Amino acid sequence: MTRKPAPGHVHPHGRSAFPGRLTLESLVAVLRGHGLRMTANRQALLRALLAADVPQSLEQLQAQAARFSPRDEAPDFATVFRMMTLLEELRLARKVHLGRPTSHYELTDSEHHRDHLVCTDCGQVTPLEGSCPVEKLEQRIAREHGYTQVTHSLEFFGRCGDCSSHAGAPGA
Ligand SMILES: [Zn+2]
Ligand SMILES: [Zn+2]
Repeated sequence: MTRKPAPGHVHPHGRSAFPGRLTLESLVAVLRGHGLRMTANRQALLRALLAADVPQSLEQLQAQAARFSPRDEAPDFATVFRMMTLLEELRLARKVHLGRPTSHYELTDSEHHRDHLVCTDCGQVTPLEGSCPVEKLEQRIAREHGYTQVTHSLEFFGRCGDCSSHAGAPGA
């Protein structure tokens, strides 16, 4: 974790509806508050989301959740879909567009915010380490336009090293 925010570091305009770092406990509390029964499968899904370091599709989350499930079983797709829809409505998660037909999701707190480098050939997604290059710009835009809850998604697309060498000279 190289992107650990300094203590007290809070985006002034807030990326997330939840004040502070998202944890399993905070997510469970918010979802319970919205009347969702927190089954083992749903908790496994939240653990998968918290553990992810790149945005996950619904299918990926479903598969990853099995790893965190006490009985090694994946939640059904409808469960994954409903929970991610609710998290998105609550602004606790958001869609990241990776140039693919399916949607990918990440949590919205600053601990999980990453910009990405995406290979257009093999689809490999690399989270960019270091501080977000447009964080200051985001704050300025929010201020100048009187917006709150401003977020952004910053993806760079290209061809990774492996794909470049298989395809011949880079740029060919
Ligand atoms: Zn590639
Ligand atoms: Zn960023």
